[in-house]
Amino acid sequence: MARGGAALSAVPEFALIEAIRARCANTREDVRLGIGDDAALLAVPLGQALAVSTDTLVEGVHFPLGTRAFDLGWKSLAVNLSDLAAMGATPAWATLALTLPRADAQWVEDFADGFAALAREFKLALVGGDTTQGPLSVTITVHGFVPEPLAVRRSGAREGDGVYVTGTLGDAAAGLRCQDKSDAEAERLLAAPLHAREALIERLNRPTPRVACGAVLRGRASACIDISDGLLADLGHVCAASAVGAEVEVETLPSSPALLGLFDASARRALQLAGGDDYELCFTVRSSAAPQLLSDLARSGCGATRIGRIVAGSGVRVRDASGADIAPPRRGWEHFA
Ligand code: ADP
Ligand code: MG
Repeated sequence: MARGGAALSAVPEFALIEAIRARCANTREDVRLGIGDDAALLAVPLGQALAVSTDTLVEGVHFPLGTRAFDLGWKSLAVNLSDLAAMGATPAWATLALTLPRADAQWVEDFADGFAALAREFKLALVGGDTTQGPLSVTITVHGFVPEPLAVRRSGAREGDGVYVTGTLGDAAAGLRCQDKSDAEAERLLAAPLHAREALIERLNRPTPRVACGAVLRGRASACIDISDGLLADLGHVCAASAVGAEVEVETLPSSPALLGLFDASARRALQLAGGDDYELCFTVRSSAAPQLLSDLARSGCGATRIGRIVAGSGVRVRDASGADIAPPRRGWEHFA
């Protein structure tokens, strides 16, 4: 869309779109018409529901100024794929709305390389988008397939179900702390081993969407959500949608070696409960179905950890090893708060 915004200077808009297309428009049978026309034409397989999700990333809000273009391309797609994973959907297509302050061809190529690196892993095709001028922001819409009765909604958790998370929690929020040079803690963290800091920053900039886990959970988990705003906030959404409460045992929250090495127990707790940006899946499952599901998850390449249970009532309570209630830290990220 050339009109409306000021023209992108330096490189013509079509050249930017071509740079993106050349890297990302992989050919799928079901893409009948991709980038280049007024709309894409896509064939949804018979018997599948189309799962659609959109996420916007705004500079200074969702990612710090100076985030590398490659990382931003990767992460923008990853956070969207994470939503499809949480529904148990298989990714297929995406559109990309890119708002750029300048027509910087190198930046766009690096961004597209990051996007493409992740898209390739899931055979996802970029089928369209829009390129405009303005403050840096990225909006991606992803489309995936799931047989409708097997889609995992937020609303299916029942009293007695176990609560689980994939992978480890708190790493991305810890990575942000490692990057923040102004933080009071900066000196302590700078003295920590480089590989541990890098591992945490990697989790912030290049999250792994748990698509394979989502496929295993399909039709088997009672409820699922991906953790973007922090465990307490997102598990709270599952509880609200399911009209139940949850109890989380803080000692059971899974930690990476890097997180254990760099942060004490109380700092870890805050990062894991409310830090956000984890892009792990939090799901619930009936006790009878749990053992088989867990072993299938482990075989899919990403294990899950039991962190609590669903109870009658409402809201999320956090308990320590002795069973005493813990006052939760600030609940996750909220816009307009
Ligand atoms: P129109 O003016 O008809 O909306 P555009 O000039 O915006 O067309 O886009 C031309 C083609 O390039 C369309 O197929 C559109 O989907 C695609 N496109 C534009 N920007 C992007 C982008 N950032 N990523 C992928 N495809 C894009
Ligand atoms: Mg357009």
